Amino acid sequence: MTIAEPTITTGGPALPQERRLVTGIPGPRSTELMQRKQSAVAAGVGTTMPVFAAAAGGGVVVDVDGNSLIDLGSGIAVTGVGNAHPHIVDAVAEQVASFTHTCFMVTPYESYIAVAEALNRVTPGDHAKRSVLFNSGAEAVENAVKIARAHTGRQAVVAFDHAYHGRTNLTMALTAKAMPYKRGFGPFASEIYRAPVSYPLRDGGLSGEQAARAAIGRIEKQIGGDQVAAIIIEPILGEGGFIVPADGFLPALAAWARENGVVFIADEVQTGFARTGRMFACEHEDVVPDLITTAKGIAGGLPLSAVTGHAEIMDAVHTGGLGGTYGGNPVACAAALASIDAFENEGLCEAADRIGDIIVRRFRDIAASDPRVADVRGRGAMIAIEFCDAETGEPDAALATRVAKAAHAQGVIVLTCGTFGNVIRFLPPLTIPLELLVEGLDIVATALRDDSQSSAR
Ligand SMILES: *Cc1c(COP(=O)(O)O)cnc(C)c1O
Repeated sequence: MTIAEPTITTGGPALPQERRLVTGIPGPRSTELMQRKQSAVAAGVGTTMPVFAAAAGGGVVVDVDGNSLIDLGSGIAVTGVGNAHPHIVDAVAEQVASFTHTCFMVTPYESYIAVAEALNRVTPGDHAKRSVLFNSGAEAVENAVKIARAHTGRQAVVAFDHAYHGRTNLTMALTAKAMPYKRGFGPFASEIYRAPVSYPLRDGGLSGEQAARAAIGRIEKQIGGDQVAAIIIEPILGEGGFIVPADGFLPALAAWARENGVVFIADEVQTGFARTGRMFACEHEDVVPDLITTAKGIAGGLPLSAVTGHAEIMDAVHTGGLGGTYGGNPVACAAALASIDAFENEGLCEAADRIGDIIVRRFRDIAASDPRVADVRGRGAMIAIEFCDAETGEPDAALATRVAKAAHAQGVIVLTCGTFGNVIRFLPPLTIPLELLVEGLDIVATALRDDSQSSAR
């Protein structure tokens, strides 16, 4: 297979784009830091890999022992433009040197407005829009719900099976999975209802329209359309397993929402900013959400999030009803402006599609002869493989964990996900050199093959 290199020339400091293991994983310095973590950091904070970062750029993370790891996770879909993108580094350095904070609610500054204008421009739909900035994805989701309630005067909010919307109280209530996100942390916010989502591998192959009818039927019977303030959905469900609803599901929900005066919120915190090969995943089916939440990829790793939507919905909230001390911090805004510029002008949607093609082809080939690979799915550079037991068809979380661990030991950062924990997901930086991507996939594929040999013994 010949591989065309992307024409993009971004990426962090000129780190050699190579996998290089100079110690075991973890090395001695990381092992020492892990001990310090255990005695200083709350036990509730887990880590995927026991290695500590020293530098990162392009498609690699270099650890404190000098190992260079292939990054197939982007810090959970954050560093889409590549870590330490030079334009972001410059923009941040310049902003830090002039001022770091005034609070937009006290003495505002231009860059916040410029980010809002950019978001109003790049999000789906050409209607009049407004944006408001926050710090985290969860905070954006919370505020989208506040805005929808203020606009509609209604309270009920519908979320879906397998949804993930964050870890704050309201967003825990919206999130579907108990372990590790919710267990022991109740009581949860009220007036949250759950509807079934389209999950082609597991819903018996319902069409998008059929699955939408089931969800809408549930909503109408259990709540009543005229009581619903908002439905919130990830266009591709992220933590829940990179579930791509069948074609027609999202448009049917959006149409129902429109007919019933319900605010349709697309949570694009993970799918946004070129990740799926379009600037936003809703665009694949021409869905124009009323409100869209963004975060992760927005600012190259600086904490920033946003709610963007219809002017008349956004402006329903009284002055002073939205905000926060740090929301739209000027350093994060400078980073967001540089990264949105990179997403628009550096061919990153095309890069996402090239990456996705390579991953999908690779694992569909494997799936053709390996019944443990039950599904290979996703869009752009947001691709997952779901593992099931070859005999019983039951989700095989242990296999996903073993393959991920084996890849980690070989210096490849891969993440798992899924309600059943049986999914390996690929979220490489969009600037990863394709040779390096292929090397990373080779290692995951070998780990899978070797696992089959060891279990056949
Ligand atoms: C990660 C994520 C969130 C929460 O974002 P945080 O910045 O971790 O609070 C919300 N929604 C989706 C779809 C996410 O993937």
